[in-house]
Amino acid sequence: MCSVEQKLDLLVIAAHPDDAEIAMGGTILATIASGARVGIVDLTRGELSSRGTPELRAEETARATEMLGVHWRSCLGFADGSVRDDDPSREALVEVMRQTRPRVVLAPWKDDLHPDHAGAGLLAYRSLYLGGVRLYPSGTGSHLQHRASALGYYMCHTPFEPGVIVDVSEYWNRKMEVVNCYRSQFYDPSHQGVPTKISQPGFMAAVEGRARELGTRAGVELGEAIVWQDPPAVANPVDLVVGKGLSSNREEDTMGGDR
Ligand SMILES: [Zn+2]
Repeated sequence: MCSVEQKLDLLVIAAHPDDAEIAMGGTILATIASGARVGIVDLTRGELSSRGTPELRAEETARATEMLGVHWRSCLGFADGSVRDDDPSREALVEVMRQTRPRVVLAPWKDDLHPDHAGAGLLAYRSLYLGGVRLYPSGTGSHLQHRASALGYYMCHTPFEPGVIVDVSEYWNRKMEVVNCYRSQFYDPSHQGVPTKISQPGFMAAVEGRARELGTRAGVELGEAIVWQDPPAVANPVDLVVGKGLSSNREEDTMGGDR
């Protein structure tokens, strides 16, 4: 889990442990099921969290990582609450990108409500570009330049107009099992704790509600949204789409149009 022997297809960047699972858990599971290699880099340990200790959070992350089945996961140990696009952070993230050499990178939306998420998105954008600049310094300098083909952003708190919706219907139950590994962060009637945005009783229903709304827009049951920094190239437009569309065998239906 700690070393990268083979490069990754997808690298998911998260500000806090649990961001990747809550926002992109279904996408990660679906991508792994397709045979691709997926990794996660957490920028912080979530040590500012109002609920749960860092030790408990580390145990929860380890369990979630195992259940997800990702090929690699690491934590850069940045200061929780202070994730920002500065030179030391860029050099550390460039080193991760050069080491793991992903084709696609996903990061939190750059305009998210939480400053750490917004900071992580901007940091991902800058680092991805600089990773491809040969003389930009990083780590030991032993890894060659690398720039992923596509950078997408995922939805944490603040919604955006999606560029693509990933059909995660088949992976939803598993995703929620993984998310529930982070028990200390969520509503627990037997443990009051400090209330947070995600410890409200309705949070899980809100996560599912958003996925149902996104899925409905794309003609599937449950979806997760990505918006692209720049439009990625696709081999052809048909294989990009999983929905079969609406069709009928009854002739009068085909004449009547959409009612
Ligand atoms: Zn977060």
